[in-house]
Amino acid sequence: SVVVGRRVRSRRKWRRVLGVLADLEEGCSTPVGRLKQVVDAMAVEMHAGLASEGGSKLKMLLTFVDRLPYGSEKGTYYALDLGGTNFRVLRVQLGGQRSSIMEQHVEKQPIPQHLMSSTSEILFDFIASSLKEFVEREGDGSQTLLTRRRELGFTFSFPVKQTSVSSGILIKWTKLFYIPDMVGREVTECLEQAMSRKGLNMRVAVLVNDTVGTLALGHYHDADTVAAVIIGTGTNACYWERTDAIIKCQGLLTTTGGMVINMEWGNFWSSHLPRTSYDMDLDADSPNQNDQGFEKMISGMYLGEIVRRVLLRMSQESDIFGALPSKLSMPFILSTPMIAAMHEDDSPELTEVARILKDALEIPDVPLKVRKLVVKVCDVVTRRAARLAAAGIVGILKKIGRDGSGGITGGRTRSDVKIRRSVVAIEGGLYTSYTIFREYLHEALSEILGEDIARHVILKVTEDGSGIGAALLAAS
Ligand code: BGC
Ligand code: MG
Repeated sequence: SVVVGRRVRSRRKWRRVLGVLADLEEGCSTPVGRLKQVVDAMAVEMHAGLASEGGSKLKMLLTFVDRLPYGSEKGTYYALDLGGTNFRVLRVQLGGQRSSIMEQHVEKQPIPQHLMSSTSEILFDFIASSLKEFVEREGDGSQTLLTRRRELGFTFSFPVKQTSVSSGILIKWTKLFYIPDMVGREVTECLEQAMSRKGLNMRVAVLVNDTVGTLALGHYHDADTVAAVIIGTGTNACYWERTDAIIKCQGLLTTTGGMVINMEWGNFWSSHLPRTSYDMDLDADSPNQNDQGFEKMISGMYLGEIVRRVLLRMSQESDIFGALPSKLSMPFILSTPMIAAMHEDDSPELTEVARILKDALEIPDVPLKVRKLVVKVCDVVTRRAARLAAAGIVGILKKIGRDGSGGITGGRTRSDVKIRRSVVAIEGGLYTSYTIFREYLHEALSEILGEDIARHVILKVTEDGSGIGAALLAAS
């Protein structure tokens, strides 16, 4: 009869939806064997990027930071942190004794969306004004400002080809920023010109990537810190490298020790990465096609968008969301905080999932069965991201001989080898605010390294590290 026919049709549609899910799961699968291939590829690309300019999609940028803060820094320093969704102005007072930050004041504000695609002058005028207001409010007094020049650490979280520790040229924009007139220009000059337009007497003492600031603060607190990772709106890592391993500037570097290398791992690519049709479509529709491939699978700017694309596909295969909801076809309508909230909804009826589907996508009355499906999609996409980030971290450890693999020689057994403690400073909302993401990342680290070695790898959250670290570097 009619009822039976309808039931058969709806069963068939549900089966098609499950087919979409199964394809997604297969396309995103990250068994430990595949993760180890990603680890190896990361280490290989790191070598290639250090060997010659343009030798790899990994730029392995020089930072000219050839010593990290130890704790003897003293005085009052300012920092600006620009690059994610928020913009920060900071003042840090350093005690001059071992790792003592006497006082720190951080002010955070969202960057008005229109500034992200304006002109460099408009953007930097805004930044300089905010800094000026901050300094004046802090009670330093304009008198002091006019007479005494202040040293500033500038965290600028985009790929920069540094010409010195305090200057560099913007290679390209990433994440939400797109200000074409700025590409190829001296970043420090742009800021210093804006500061003088605003009558602010400050000098950029260091220009650093956010990963580098994070490494600096991590090292200030714990000298075993060897690398820093950001997993926020964008993703990237930096680490401490020996000078003699930086082949591409052999002879040019005067330092004998080492230098921090800004990997720009967001642009990492390998055929071993589990790529789906959703990733390809997302890339094709992005303003930076064929760029930032690793970032597009991992960072906060993209996870929600991948989930949206999968849900849209499911809704096209069937009527799980009722008549095709228009909001679901709007790019970037689902943010990563929303998918985190749905993923972490532990209420039996998944009320938070229902609320977000209704508020953000205008899809009301989603049955429980479908809510569960949405959570599953979030899970698959987030799990892949976390596990790939873990593989990236192990790739770095492997490159610097801290993954435990090189230590077993001369017939000694694993248990005889003293494994060095390695600290990785970490920052960014995905790791700090998305518990399931963090748990997946740690789980993957243990799977790849084995429990014995993973125990010696410590991920340490360094809150506001990118900015405070820049102030520390300005002081040292
Ligand atoms: C940028 C990096 C930055 C990372 C995290 C990426 O999009 O290219 O320079 O470190 O985001 O903010
Ligand atoms: Mg940041």
